[in-house]
Amino acid sequence: MADIHDQEFGLGDGATQDGILLTRVDQLINWTRKSSVWPMTFGLACCAIEMMATGASSYDIDRFGSGPFRATPRQADLMIVAGTVSHKMAPRVKRLYDQMPEPKFVMAMGACTVSGGPYIKHGYHVLKGVDRIVPVDVYVPGCPPRPEALLEGLFRIQEKMERERLLDKTRCGARPKVLVE
Ligand code: SF4
Repeated sequence: MADIHDQEFGLGDGATQDGILLTRVDQLINWTRKSSVWPMTFGLACCAIEMMATGASSYDIDRFGSGPFRATPRQADLMIVAGTVSHKMAPRVKRLYDQMPEPKFVMAMGACTVSGGPYIKHGYHVLKGVDRIVPVDVYVPGCPPRPEALLEGLFRIQEKMERERLLDKTRCGARPKVLVE
C-alpha cells in the first residue's frame, strides 16, 4: 500500500514510515480531482455517439475516474464538445460553459469542433472551431475520433490537473484564444 501511495504522489522510497504519509496539499487535491472528473452530459452531433460508446462497458471510462456524466453544468468540471457547433448552438454552448464552476476544462472532440471539419469550406452555418467561444484545453482530432482517442484526451486533461497549483488563479476567467462574441 505504501508503494502505491509513493508512486501516486511522486514521492521517493521511505516517504511512508510508521503510518505517516507526507505529500503536498497541492498534490493531494490534484490527485483527488484527476480521479473524479465529472463531464457534462452534452452532445451535438455524430461525435457524441463515440462519446457515449466511451462511457459504455467496452471502454468503461469509469476505470479512469471519469464516469459520472452530470446532467447539469453546475456539477461538471469537464465540457466535452462532441459534434458540429452550428452558429445557432454556439451561444448555448458558451452559456453552458459559463454556468460551470471553476476550475473547469474543455475538450474539443472531432474535426467539426476543432476547426469546422467537413464544413470548413462551405458550411456557412458552422463555427470554425469551438475555441472561438470557449477556451479549449485539449483538442482530439478525427471524424469521428474513436473512444481510445477520447480516453487519450482525458489523460491529457488529467495531466493538466496534476500540474495545477492551488493558489494559481490564472485559469479563472480564462478567455478563448479567438474570441467571437
Ligand atoms: S467530426 Fe465527423 S463525426 Fe464528428 S460531428 Fe463532425 S462530421 Fe460528425
